[in-house]
Amino acid sequence: MNALRGAPVNRVPATSVTQVGLVELMEKTGAKWPEAHSNPEFMAKLAAAPYCEVGLETARVPFCLTVQASAMGCEIVMGAMDRQPSVAGHLDVSPDQLRVPEDFLSRGRIPVVLEAVKILKREVGGEVPVIAGFEGPFTLAGHLMGIERLCKMVLRDPQGVERAVQVATEANLLYIKALQEAGVDVLVPCDPLASPAILSPSMFKKFVKPYLEQLVKESKVPIVLHICGNTTPILKDMAEAGFTALSIEEKVEIAKAKEIVGDMSRVVGNIAPAGVLLTGTPDQVREECLKALKDGVDALAPGCGLAPRTPVANIKAMVEAAQSFSR
Ligand SMILES: [Zn+2]
Repeated sequence: MNALRGAPVNRVPATSVTQVGLVELMEKTGAKWPEAHSNPEFMAKLAAAPYCEVGLETARVPFCLTVQASAMGCEIVMGAMDRQPSVAGHLDVSPDQLRVPEDFLSRGRIPVVLEAVKILKREVGGEVPVIAGFEGPFTLAGHLMGIERLCKMVLRDPQGVERAVQVATEANLLYIKALQEAGVDVLVPCDPLASPAILSPSMFKKFVKPYLEQLVKESKVPIVLHICGNTTPILKDMAEAGFTALSIEEKVEIAKAKEIVGDMSRVVGNIAPAGVLLTGTPDQVREECLKALKDGVDALAPGCGLAPRTPVANIKAMVEAAQSFSR
């Protein structure tokens, strides 16, 4: 928590603010996907495993970016033990018809996540931060409207985009309030659809930043923004929105990110989930971690969600790198 806030720490923690459900840990704990997405005890058990079994300083739920979309009425495919749930069907409505259902917080798997947060607080809450990730406003709007349709609307119907992102923000705000009441320590909106690979930096300023600012305003706990890809062109705007920390991928250089955001936000990342953590050796992981630590990362973490088949030995190497490093 101190590392995220920029307070003094005895060493940089090894954590993850993105997806951490691993097949090896599912097998060890018996809490397997897809059941662990819908059963709060399983969700909590699998979320605590990277800490309890490997020493990663995190307990993070859930393992997908579909919880709010599901509660809003989108069709979800629940995946398999090594495949995340995904949004399969969007809402067939115009932006004006979009509404957050009155019983939003009791729909779909929202009660599951809230219950899992409470269990984790009881079980490991005194030792590591309990973290909740969720679809940020632009990504949730994409799930509701259809990603291709929303991207076309950016040029043809900007007002419709604003309306859809505002409704998604309203859902986010209700969810944030409920997560905080459940006792969450850190909030992590993930907005992959707002990546510069998809949305230009000027469109980010118009269609994303003002809505992210609303989330920061509602948040009483540290809030970390994750956006995928090379976010270098929008890092300043991300930090200006007021986030405690920014979670970045390996495509962003740590030193450059630190220079851009200054003391506005801390920087979390950026070990490559596919190129290093999934397919590399523990030695390669250690090397990448030491580079990130030397470059001044505030919390060592995967740059994005972990692939479920990521070897636990590679996560262990990340933990050991943080423990052995002193600045
Ligand atoms: Zn990502």
